[in-house]
Amino acid sequence: MSRRRAVLALLAVCVLGCLAENAQGQALHYERPVERAPQEKDIGGGYVTPKVQKPLPRRAWLEILDVALLAAAMGVSVWIVVKRRSRRWLVALTVASVGYFGFYREGCVCPIGSIQNVTVALTDPNYHIPMVVTATFFLPLLVAVFYGRAFCGGVCALGSIQELVLLKPVQVPRRLDQALGLLKYVYLAAAIWYAVLPAAQRDFVICRFDPFVSLFRRSGFAHMLALGAGFLVLGMFVGRPYCRYLCPYGGLLSWFSRLAARGVSITPNKELDCGLCAEACPYGAIEEMRAVRRKCLYCARCYAACPREGPLVKAFVPLGEVR
Ligand code: SF4
Ligand code: SF4
Repeated sequence: MSRRRAVLALLAVCVLGCLAENAQGQALHYERPVERAPQEKDIGGGYVTPKVQKPLPRRAWLEILDVALLAAAMGVSVWIVVKRRSRRWLVALTVASVGYFGFYREGCVCPIGSIQNVTVALTDPNYHIPMVVTATFFLPLLVAVFYGRAFCGGVCALGSIQELVLLKPVQVPRRLDQALGLLKYVYLAAAIWYAVLPAAQRDFVICRFDPFVSLFRRSGFAHMLALGAGFLVLGMFVGRPYCRYLCPYGGLLSWFSRLAARGVSITPNKELDCGLCAEACPYGAIEEMRAVRRKCLYCARCYAACPREGPLVKAFVPLGEVR
């Protein structure tokens, strides 16, 4: 069995595990504690119940629509990057994703946090995971197996907001980059550890320490807003620091994307060996003139920097035509 088939089979088993374990749970009505607590009219005196959950649960069809939009956005990301090879179009998708998945949906269509839900669903028979969360977790991994990290390219709200603030990228020395890149696996292990604890001690640390969710929700603790702002200021010079060094889902995407047969390609039949693409890649994802699937964040900056394509193509005069 090929490696890709083995990974697809593993993904299928995990999906079935989540669904079988929780089929009954899909029909359960989840009653939030705030719904069981005394209501405003019972308390009286002008008391107003604070909104304790953000965002509030949506109707089922809207949640399914969100998953459909997530899948469609990844399809668009693959089309723009693999077929269209356009940085400009990808920036448009990036802005749209920050607007919809970030500020409108308040960062809640999120496979990153769903690592914890899936972990608990696979280990605790009393825990029920909604199908939309299962789909949100597995879809980007499935796409990564075939096309690389399309989710990171203009779909993920966390990655997209960092992509938009990157103004003057500096190259992080390769060894330091590799060492810092290990942190996300430590974080992934810690997140799984806290998720599999007994229910009373369980903690969803990825959500608790999500640096951008307070910004998307325009609320939250001051220290988390400051952390998000700090990442954005750092991200003006160091390309996507959260994605490269801390995102636990990025670690999973990195593994799965190694199997991708298609993805970003550096014009192999028109190669100039000039190295401009490698210099333009803020994520150190181009090695020996090839985009490395596990590191490539689908930003299309290398296309824009290439004299053989992108906006520079008009200024490029092939050597054979120089007189
Ligand atoms: S690495 Fe993580 S935060 Fe960054 S774009 Fe990918 S999934 Fe989103
Ligand atoms: S190789 Fe680098 S510049 Fe090119 S799309 Fe991937 S991350 Fe972006």
